[in-house]
Amino acid sequence: MLTKVVIANRGEIALRILRACREMGIQTVAVHSTADRDLKHVRLADESVCIGPPSSIDSYLNIPAVISAAEVTDAVAIHPGYGFLSENADFAEQVEKSGFTFIGPRPETIRVMGDKVSAIQAMKNAGVPCVPGSDGPLGDDVEENIRIARKIGYPVIIKASGGGGGRGMRVVHSEAALSSAVSLTRGEAAAAFGNDMVYMEKYLENPRHVEFQVLADEHGNAIHLGERDCSMQRRHQKVIEEAPAPGIGNKLRKEIGERCAKACQEIGYRGAGTFEFLYENGEFYFIEMNTRLQVEHPVTEFITGVDIVREQLRIAAGEKLAYKQKDIQVRGHAVECRINAEDPDNFMPSPGMVKRFHAPGGLGVRVDTHLYSDYKVPPYYDSMIGKLVTYADNREGALARMYVALDEMIIEGIKTNIPLHKRLVKDTAFCEGGVNIHYLEKLLDM
Ligand code: ADP
Repeated sequence: MLTKVVIANRGEIALRILRACREMGIQTVAVHSTADRDLKHVRLADESVCIGPPSSIDSYLNIPAVISAAEVTDAVAIHPGYGFLSENADFAEQVEKSGFTFIGPRPETIRVMGDKVSAIQAMKNAGVPCVPGSDGPLGDDVEENIRIARKIGYPVIIKASGGGGGRGMRVVHSEAALSSAVSLTRGEAAAAFGNDMVYMEKYLENPRHVEFQVLADEHGNAIHLGERDCSMQRRHQKVIEEAPAPGIGNKLRKEIGERCAKACQEIGYRGAGTFEFLYENGEFYFIEMNTRLQVEHPVTEFITGVDIVREQLRIAAGEKLAYKQKDIQVRGHAVECRINAEDPDNFMPSPGMVKRFHAPGGLGVRVDTHLYSDYKVPPYYDSMIGKLVTYADNREGALARMYVALDEMIIEGIKTNIPLHKRLVKDTAFCEGGVNIHYLEKLLDM
């Protein structure tokens, strides 16, 4: 097993990884910015190294600083968590070149999946259903692009191959708007992602976001852990996630899940990963693969009983998956609310001192957070300060438990989106299940 791991992240996910390491007897090294000395996991880690000033560019995204921290502490592996360097192929490569284990896929895999055109090609070849589209990058030939769009049928969406975070996309409703949309998106993509490659897809009007969790080891074994529904989004950011996805059922889960697992074997995938799909009228359409641990992994842990971070650590140590597909049973229902330090009315960040913190509890309640009373939420990073996750035999029970847990949770001193969540988990359409990705924004607009 790994002897010592550097946790190259902060906040709740750093604490989540630290807990898994401690349970497995793995030593931990916390790396942190000068603004993050008081993070809970920094205090609990065996060692800690300050890697730079508050700005992420100079600390959590500073590749030489993170690697030196591994060197000076004699660590053997680096866990990148999510965000920051987690999907940076150059980082993964430098980690491995410096003689450490990167807890994630091979750098080449991250590179292929990080480019949407090559990711879609790889998935198509592996038999994963994709959105009808341009089958590769768009050229500058206006007539040819018009021909492609006619074949796909309007509306279409122009997307940057190197895009991320919901940026670099433009919906086109008519032929007249096509050519300028292609050049505008190309220009934005070049400026934002340093890559002007764009492609075209059918624009699905009312899809749900349904994603599959996979695990694969270095010995050619791959399994899926079922799906999650993450359709409750605002500005392409997930707000509430759940597993399983309402109305999918065992048959479709098995069919799509097994195709994802098989695709992992075909591309030589290693570690935990997520296949993101849009789901509309009973059909799945692959949009992208995330080659890392996801924020919403706890809902899958609840319904399958698999500790995903533990599996990541075992896989990185070269071990075989602890589970075969037949060992994975989906049982019950789990819901996750992302708790953000923000004004629930206008979504402005609300950092500052947490004067009082009380976590909810009880059967089927999980709180993943680094908060404690008198902790000061710094203004420099993402506003997510924790995740509240509930589990019950069925969806109705999980939602009822969520309302009680939200009601019990006390965070004083800063504003949070708990009041919004309390409203959402009682919302009639959401409670019925299966709302699409536009539902939350429409509800907030009313
Ligand atoms: P990013 O990497 O920026 O998150 P994605 O490809 O995952 O980009 O797309 C982000 C979001 O954009 C999706 O969750 C969906 O809401 C919307 N989107 C992307 N492609 C399509 C499409 N073909 N039809 C409809 N909506 C889409």
